[in-house]
Order: sequence, then C-alpha cells, then structure tokens
Amino acid sequence: MLPYDTPLSHISTIKKPVLSKLERLGILTVADMFAHFPHRYEDYSTIYPISSLSIDDKRTILGTIVSIDVERTWKKKMLLTEAIIEDASGRLRLIWFNQRFVAQTLKVGAVIRVSGKVTRDSQGLLMASPAFEQASRDATHTGRLIPVYPETAGLTSKFFRWQLATLFQKLTDIPDPVPEEILTRLHLPSLKQALAYIHFPKNEKQTLLARKRFAFDEMFFVQLKSLQVKALFETAQSNPIPFDENVLQNFLATLPFTLTDAQRKASLEILKDMSKTRPMNRLLNGDVGSGKTIVAALAAFIAAEQGFQAVILAPTEVLAKQHWSSLSSLFAHTEHQLALLTGSYRILDGETVTRPTLIKAIGAGIPEIVVGTHALLQDDVAFHNLALIVVDEQHRFGVAQRAKLQDASFGSKDGIKNKVPHFLTMTATPIPRTLTLAFFGNLDLSILDELPKHRKPIITKIVTTSAGRKKVSAFVESEIAKGRQAFIIFPLVEESLALKEVKAAVAEHKHLAETVFPHLAIGLLHGKMKPKEKEAVMHDFKEKKYDILVATAVVEVGIDIPNASVIIIEEAERFGLAQLHQFRGRVGRAEHQSYCFLFPHEETSAVNERLKVLEKTTSGFQIAEADLALRGPGAFFGTRQSGMPDIAMENLTNIKLIQIAREEAKLILSEDPKLIQHPRLKQALTKFEERIHFE
Ligand code: ADP
Ligand code: MG
Repeated sequence: MLPYDTPLSHISTIKKPVLSKLERLGILTVADMFAHFPHRYEDYSTIYPISSLSIDDKRTILGTIVSIDVERTWKKKMLLTEAIIEDASGRLRLIWFNQRFVAQTLKVGAVIRVSGKVTRDSQGLLMASPAFEQASRDATHTGRLIPVYPETAGLTSKFFRWQLATLFQKLTDIPDPVPEEILTRLHLPSLKQALAYIHFPKNEKQTLLARKRFAFDEMFFVQLKSLQVKALFETAQSNPIPFDENVLQNFLATLPFTLTDAQRKASLEILKDMSKTRPMNRLLNGDVGSGKTIVAALAAFIAAEQGFQAVILAPTEVLAKQHWSSLSSLFAHTEHQLALLTGSYRILDGETVTRPTLIKAIGAGIPEIVVGTHALLQDDVAFHNLALIVVDEQHRFGVAQRAKLQDASFGSKDGIKNKVPHFLTMTATPIPRTLTLAFFGNLDLSILDELPKHRKPIITKIVTTSAGRKKVSAFVESEIAKGRQAFIIFPLVEESLALKEVKAAVAEHKHLAETVFPHLAIGLLHGKMKPKEKEAVMHDFKEKKYDILVATAVVEVGIDIPNASVIIIEEAERFGLAQLHQFRGRVGRAEHQSYCFLFPHEETSAVNERLKVLEKTTSGFQIAEADLALRGPGAFFGTRQSGMPDIAMENLTNIKLIQIAREEAKLILSEDPKLIQHPRLKQALTKFEERIHFE
C-alpha cells in the first residue's frame, strides 16, 4: 500500500525526466500529484450509437473491433494504424498515427470504449487518434467525465489521468486534516472521497461536491490562521496610550470642520483600543473622501501627547508627502515635531536634512510623528519609543515589506522591549464586507461609510456622443471661469506600456492645450515622472497655476485638491468600478458641487450597464459590491499576490461558506487553541501557511 506522502521518486512508473518536469510544477509527492486539480471536464459519460454520430461531435462509443491494419505511408516515415469498430447501429473508422502500441494492444474481437472527436475525410466519417480502453475496464480515459488538466511543462492530461488512476488504486487511507464531525455536520465528503470525485467523477454532482469540500478547506484554514493571529495579538503586550477627553476636544476645536458621526465613532474605537495593554490591530475601511486622514492624525496626536512616537506609512512618495503636509498643518499649533522619510525626501521639523541626521533624530525620539514610504522599513531606521503604526493601503506593500512591518510591529527594535505598537491599517477604497471577512478576519473593523456633511453628491454622467463631449468642454470652461479646476484622466498604465504611456500623455496634453482649451493652463502628470517632478506638478495644481491637470492613472489614490470640481475620464470602460470611484473621489472634496464625466471609448450595452452603476450611486461600498459581483475578487487583490488557489478565489464571494468556515474555526479553537488534539489539522495548516501570507 502507498502512503499519501510518498515521494514520487519512489514510484517506479515515473521516470527521471518526468520527475524533473513534475518538480518544476512543484509536484514532489503523491499528495502534490493529487492536489493538481483538473481545470475542466469533457463530458464523455454517455455512450452513443455509431449511427448517431455527425461531424465535430465529441462522443464516446462502445463496440467490437472488426478489423485492424498497420501500414507505412508515403515517405515510409508515418506509421498508420486503421481499425474498424462496429456496434449494433453501424461501423466507424478509427485511425492513429505513429502509435505502434495501438496495434499491439488492440486485437480483432476486442470490445472497447472509444472517446474522441468525429471528423471526415474522402472516405467518410472517422475518429482520429481517439482515446480507447477495454470495455471491461474501469473508465479512465473514456466513457465518463474526462478531466482535463492544465498541461504545463510538457505533461499531458493523459499522463495525469493514468498516473492518478494507478496511484489511487494503491493508496492507503488518506489522513483527513478536517475532523470527521465537521464533515458530517456540513455534509462534506472525506478527503479521499473528494479526491476521487474531483479526479474520477461519475457525474457533475460529484465534481461540485469535491469543489465544495476543497473550497471549505481553504476558507477553514484562512479563518483558523486569522483567528490564531488575532489571539496572538490579544496576548501580546503594548503600551497603553490613555487619552484625555479635554485634550482631544481642544485639538478638534482647531479643525476647520466638525467630525462626521462615522469619524467620531471610528476615532473612539481606535482611541479605546490604544488605551489598552494589548495592541490594537484594526482596519479603517472607508469610502473615498470620507476623511480617513484626520482619524489617523487624531490617533497619532494622542500618541505624541503621551510622549510616544507614531509612524504613518504610505505606498508612494507623493502620498507620503501629502500626508506629511496635511499633518504638518494639523499639528502646526502643537509642539510636536514631524519628519518625512522617503527615497527622495528627508525632512525634520520643516527642514531638509541628511539621511543619517534624520535617522539619528528618529532614534533619539525627536520627531514624534514620522511619515514615510517603505524607505522607513530599512534596517538602519530604529525608533525611540514607537507605539503606533498607521499604514495607508497596506495591500500595496510588497510581501517582503509586509513581513517587515509585522516584524517591526512586534517591537524588536523600537527600544521598548517586548512591547508591540498599536497597529492601524487604512484602505484607500472601500472593501466589500465579504472580502474583509475572508482576508482581514484577524483585524477589528472600523467603517467610514459617511461623507462629511454639506458635501454635495458628485453628479456623474456617461457621455457617448461628440456633441455631448463638446458640451462638456464648454462646461469645463464655465467651471474654470468660476474659479474651479478640472482633472482629465486617461488610461494606459501597464509597466510594459510605460513608454507608450508617456507618448500618449504628452500627445493628449498637447492636443488639449493647443486645440481644445488653447487659453487655459494645463498641467501634465504621468507615471514615468520622478516623484519630485510629480510633486511639483501637484503642488502647482494645488496653487492654481494650472486650470486643468491631465493625468494617467497615477492620480488614483489619495490626491487631495479641494478646489477641483470636474473630472473627465477617457476610455472609462478600461477601469474597474472601484478604480473609477477612486478617480471620481478626486473631486467633490469641498463644498462645491462637483461633476464626473465618463467618456467610454467603445460603447456596448455591457459597458453601459457597468458604468451606469456609477451614475446611480456614490456609495463606495455599493460600488465595491457591484465590482466584486462583476469582476470577482481579482478586482481587489491579484490572485498571485494573495497566493490563493483558484477554488478559494472563486469562493471569496461566498459569504455563507466563509461564515460557516469561521464558525467551525472558532469552535475548534475554543476547545483546542493550539490544535494539540488535532495534529493532522495543525500540520495541514502549517503547509497552508507556507503558501499564503497574511495581512
Ligand atoms: P480619504 O478618506 O479619501 O483619505 P481625506 O482624509 O483625504 O479622505 O479627506 C478628504 C477631504 O475632506 C479633505 O480635504 C479633508 O480635509 C476633508 N474632511 C475630512 N473630514 C471632514 C469633515 N468632517 N468635514 C468636512 N471636511 C472634512
Ligand atoms: Mg486618503
């Protein structure tokens, strides 16, 4: 008998060259082999009479071989095997090229099943190179749902089908990581059963049941892991940062506005967390323009008031610079010092300094608030008494950087031994609830689903005619005459298109400046500009040196120009809804009525249907749900980035499955937090962790 974890090198039927091909796919053991799932099935499960066949059918037939011939064709190179098969309804020709084994295995009188595609030549219908096997045998290649495997590294579906069928025969019982009582409760097949269902299904129902089981496994592991991480945070020690209601009120009194209810609630949740001796681990999930910055600033302010340091991390230099300047004005009337550290900026208390100087100052605890990019995560940066980390758009940080963050968050080098800083992460765009549960199950949630009052909802229109475009141009001019400003966005964002992007951006800018708006000042912002150049353009736009800013997708996140009231998005259909919502959020950030015009390049009813969601609602959460339904979770997280297998990705929208998995995970951890009674589950979870990384 064959144990499930047997290395494939111990299997005599798998030869060296094949082994190395499998190795390239990461398939080293029998278990790995069974984890290589088919990506689709061809339905050969019904046996058809020969007389019913017509050209291009993919069918299975069953009959007796009545003749078989092997001949060398022209040039003597080609070996042609031709057989005739007969059933009660008629006869069919079968041919194979260069497959000597066919004549060796197939004899006159043999009763076989044949599956393949029906074609035609001058002599009539035939099947060329069909799969076949003895009718007395179990169906492997014919007469059933035939699994089709991703054919990579030169390994065919046929190879996988045959190997898996052979291995399965010899397999010992497979230790199932999921406890039996859970499987019984949820009516899920055992692991061995599910493997049989996915690799050798008798019908579609079995494949679905198998997929349900594997999707459950993934979600169950995700939830176990995230609950364990959560528990770990709950046992860790942090510096409690108490907050004084009066100090807070005094600070709020200096703001030019009052907080929204949502901001107030989120701030309170955050400050309460921070006052505890266990570290906060919270996600601030907020709509575009809902005012996340001030919430983060309040947290940083309270930390600084209590004599601690706070770090605010942004994914790009432009954003870091912007956070720094917003915070600089928010903190202008306080005694706290700010620093900015990115690849190209080193600013301490408003002055540009050298990197060593800044790092030394940070280490001495001089700036209480440090804003920066991943440049802050470099090894030479150490803090004096870091007690709060705020990360804007954590998912945009690379895997290694995220690991580092986690590391930094465990306080290894902040001078406060064994104290973990409080951790707040913010999204740039609202994440649907389903996804927060699936991906951020280890975090507490605060939601900003409300825009500041007096802000008028942005009016959005899809414009498809050239007359309409002309009207929009005239409208832009009238807004600018009123003192407002406008954005014009167009796509082309992929790295490989970088050069094209620059050309297109420059050309578009020239066209607009010379032909459409000859008397207006028009700025240009594109992805290939250096951070300082981008910064200069943004600065000039903010200072109203430009009426219009032409930009590629680089303005997507966070840029704050309250005076802008119009945004035009060219080729709008090329962007996802959540991204368009982000763009749209660049306007309507102050009291002015603002407008968003979508110019689709190619107009189809599907495009219109999708873009209409934006005309109908300004709720980022509703838009995110629609995007999720239309484009799947990939719209929010790249598959590869998350390390999630397809089956799991497909099920990220399956809120019921996720909830069930979470409940089961809670139940098992409440009785056995370290999974000591469940060694197989623990082992499977460790393997799973190697594949997936967590927020
Ligand atoms: P986002 O959540 O998209 O990061 P920001 O923090 O950049 O939003 O805030 C958007 C704009 O709204 C900023 O100009 C900010 O000063 C302003 N703002 C934030 N909170 C309020 C409020 N309660 N009332 C009025 N304006 C606010
Ligand atoms: Mg922001």
